[in-house]
Amino acid sequence: MSLKPLIAICGTTGVGKSNLAIDLALQLAHGGFKSRWKGARVINADSMQVYEGLDIITNKITEDERRGVEHLLMGFKKPGEQYVVGDWVRDALELIDDIHDRNEIPIVVGGTSYWIQHLIFSNRLSRSESPLPIGNATASEWPAELKESIGSLPPELLAMFNDPPCEPPSAKTEPEEAFKLHDLLSRLDPPIGARWHWRDTRKVLRSLRIIYETRRRASDIIAEQSSAVDLNKPRFRTLCFWLYADPLTLNSRLDERVDTMIKQGLLDELYALHEISRVGQAQQLPDVDYTLGIYQAIGCKEFHDYLNTDVPSEKIFQDAVERMKLSTRQYAKRQISWIRNKLLPAVYASNEDQIMVPTYLLDATELGLSWTTNVREPATRITQNFLEDDNLPDPYSLSENAKKMLTIEQKDTNPIATLEARRKIICPICTTREDQPVMMEEGEQWETHKKSKAHRRLSAKRQRREPGRDSRARDGCAKEEPKEEELVATGSDTWCVVQ
Ligand SMILES: [Zn+2]
Repeated sequence: MSLKPLIAICGTTGVGKSNLAIDLALQLAHGGFKSRWKGARVINADSMQVYEGLDIITNKITEDERRGVEHLLMGFKKPGEQYVVGDWVRDALELIDDIHDRNEIPIVVGGTSYWIQHLIFSNRLSRSESPLPIGNATASEWPAELKESIGSLPPELLAMFNDPPCEPPSAKTEPEEAFKLHDLLSRLDPPIGARWHWRDTRKVLRSLRIIYETRRRASDIIAEQSSAVDLNKPRFRTLCFWLYADPLTLNSRLDERVDTMIKQGLLDELYALHEISRVGQAQQLPDVDYTLGIYQAIGCKEFHDYLNTDVPSEKIFQDAVERMKLSTRQYAKRQISWIRNKLLPAVYASNEDQIMVPTYLLDATELGLSWTTNVREPATRITQNFLEDDNLPDPYSLSENAKKMLTIEQKDTNPIATLEARRKIICPICTTREDQPVMMEEGEQWETHKKSKAHRRLSAKRQRREPGRDSRARDGCAKEEPKEEELVATGSDTWCVVQ
């Protein structure tokens, strides 16, 4: 059976994603396309816009701007409520079924590209049946292969295993604890241990949590997912539009946007949120966490000092505004890097045999008339061809930016390959304390390190003292400074494996 169509629109804020979605939806509704699909509904894929109210901070489009087009999964969660990728994918799939049944096209729009990615490609999510509590578990609760590893832990590590820290220890102030934690992970799940640097305690603890929560090794789960045949198979025939603006132009647009948000009453919303959290915390409601959900929206953290000062000075205010602008620009940068580093490799892998996820970059650097020429018109043409199953243009041919940004270094999207890449090794020459080893990535980093002055000097010294000592690196331990992690914890009971 052929896959049903879906249109996905992703990109940073301030590029006109919503406008394009509404425009395409209206054209579909008014018979603008030669196609059997009549009409469209928009599904929100912005993790902050699922929250009700707070229209300014979440940057929701107004009822007027929606021009009668129905927007789903928007503004239906309460502040403090958690709603994570797995929840959204489940809800979106249900809606998409219903939209297709009505002979309409679902148009998924939002800046949370990893939600979109998990929707397009199945098998990327793994949800444990019933999350288990961290900490003490009787031996009988562990599957045989883990029981064995646990049984052979030295007493000190077994004690840590039975009473793991709630917070990752600081590698700076508690290096022994940090290394012990890494040692524990390496003994329970060696391939995952080899991924993280022992200093990266946050990721080490997160990987350990997976073991507690799933009673399995993350590496086993990844291996299982890798062997799934349809790993790169999309759930829908998906036309994907990436609306992109040159960073310089975008950054000043984002700065202006922050100023506008403040004029529109951002502070009132922040005060309201602050109050909800204050009252809620006093009531100690279960299942509500005022550090998660909407409280992760850009602005909450940045204005924290301002909101918590009785008579805030102009300087505190200006600092908050500057921080918010900076966070907004950094977020946009991360959004783009997700698309390039995660979404595109998955898209290209799935398109290998047959183009199932045609993906186009539309240049939204200029607004106004140029936007119509560079975004609206090509999107309309491409959508027409997509719906009719006609020949589609070469994505590179659309613009210089398209060619530049859609070209990526081909990466292996198989989770096992990702697991094996960027393994950490210990330099035996430079390591002076076993419990605080000098670690770096295999390959380029290690090659560079070997040529460094410090390493060569130490190496020569050693050679003089201990001729014949093997100068090769010892294999085995963890990982570098944080890159985009492979294992993303997405909530108390959900986690996902992302390439
Ligand atoms: Zn060295």
